[in-house]
Amino acid sequence: MSRFVFITGGVLSSLGKGITASSLGMLLKARGLNVTIMKCDPYLNVDPGTMSPYQHGEVFVTEDGAETDLDLGHYERFIDTNLTRYNSVTTGQIYSTVIAKERRGDYLGATVQVIPHITNCIKESIVRVGNINDAEVTIVEVGGTVGDIESLPYLEAIRQMRGDVGRDNVCYIHVTYIPFSRTIGEMKSKPTQHSVKEMRAIGLAPDLIVCRTSRSLTREVRDKISLFCDIDPECVLEARDVECIYEIPIELERQGLAESVLKRLNMQAPAPDLEYQKQIVKNFRTNHTDKVRIGVIGKYIKVQDAYLSIMESLNHSSIGHNANLEIVWVASEQIEREGAEAVIKDLDGVLVPGGFGDRGIEGKIMAIKYCRENQMPFLGICLGMQCAVIEFARNQAEMPDAHSGEFSTTTGHPVISLMPDQSGVVKGGTMRLGAYPCRITEDTLAARLYNSSLIYERHRHRFEVNNEFRARLARKGLVISGTSPDQQLVEIVELPNHPFFIGCQFHPEFKSRINRPHPLFAGLFVAAHARMKAKPQP
Ligand code: GLN
Repeated sequence: MSRFVFITGGVLSSLGKGITASSLGMLLKARGLNVTIMKCDPYLNVDPGTMSPYQHGEVFVTEDGAETDLDLGHYERFIDTNLTRYNSVTTGQIYSTVIAKERRGDYLGATVQVIPHITNCIKESIVRVGNINDAEVTIVEVGGTVGDIESLPYLEAIRQMRGDVGRDNVCYIHVTYIPFSRTIGEMKSKPTQHSVKEMRAIGLAPDLIVCRTSRSLTREVRDKISLFCDIDPECVLEARDVECIYEIPIELERQGLAESVLKRLNMQAPAPDLEYQKQIVKNFRTNHTDKVRIGVIGKYIKVQDAYLSIMESLNHSSIGHNANLEIVWVASEQIEREGAEAVIKDLDGVLVPGGFGDRGIEGKIMAIKYCRENQMPFLGICLGMQCAVIEFARNQAEMPDAHSGEFSTTTGHPVISLMPDQSGVVKGGTMRLGAYPCRITEDTLAARLYNSSLIYERHRHRFEVNNEFRARLARKGLVISGTSPDQQLVEIVELPNHPFFIGCQFHPEFKSRINRPHPLFAGLFVAAHARMKAKPQP
């Protein structure tokens, strides 16, 4: 049976609980322990698949096709393990399960209530994650902030688990915020004290407190938190703002996070070797002469969380090269207003990510045309790949009205369309989701990058390249370098006679890891670096 670490948040949301959970996971895994991490989201949506990226940031897709919170991406990247749909649970799912059971009569006439029925369902989902992953430690992050009405059933469930599995098998970590008052020049621990008081009122007391802070905690603040919140001074940790998220586990290790957790859980494990992580951080912090500028052309660029995995994958791709990466966020609507050349000509590479809806589409298509015609390295992902196909059809294959069925119902050339068996879909859980196999065509850029003939990549889309136009596009020079094994679905397209022009229907960003940059991102970075080098230096 697994032991459990519960991570709650206080004072503010968006404190980096996910990174704390991920860092602890990494530190325990580095000690040889089998770890899994789970997110409980207190909202009523069944999953974030239908939520706006402005509200929720990116939707992270697991190998088994669940649409989950972006924290799952941090977890996978930090513990380098593929997680499953069971690693993410929402109130919407919990209530759906309980109500379905009630309808089936499973509760045998009982009055169905938050306690015990909802809380039991939450506890079962937590225990199940530990069991299916065969975890020695299951880390559970409870979304939201202590004090929210919505998170109460989760807090009650994790309180009960202390009795269910025994005090020595659970550890509670509370992540809070320590504001600094400029007027009096002091850090303030009062909000943290109040948050812990709130926890105590519902029967929970933290074993460790991780304080998010912009400056180092003073002895005085640390002692105050220790005294008022009734925890050992060495269990008050600080998480300072950092430039690179991979510094956080190293910093938390220095402060003894994992050791304190193991002590609480009565476990022992050898000290970890974090040399690799330290190298990575050093790499990010080195100021190289070469600056490679890759533009991400999207429509949600005001909220960079909407492209979190893209950003991380780009970061991974730069590791080990003597160059710094600068990600340039470009609004596709700016290209529509000002033209592609004016906006992107000074970049070294361009990435057009996935998306939904027609806002900004023409700007993306203009950017892709510029990349195609000007030897600019280009990677198109999902909608980005679909736009590349539209651009090619319009400007190279004599189909000037080419479009996607998502945006035009009247075009005579729907080069991107729904598959016949997909008509009549509703929103929510109806896309092609999760990992699918893809066969790579020999002697292509894709084959060189992947160095493999069969790959598995994660999908999240409804539309596909329309087979009716495949032959015509291919005749004009669009190379289809990856398809589903039955060849019915186009998965990768590319252009020969171009330094780097490739689009994929899947989302490679979900599989990139710090120690294994994804081949498509790695290829884009190398090509962009080469372009940067070839440019006359100022
Ligand atoms: N909107 C497109 C589709 O549904 C692309 C989706 C995406 O980029 N994730 O096919």
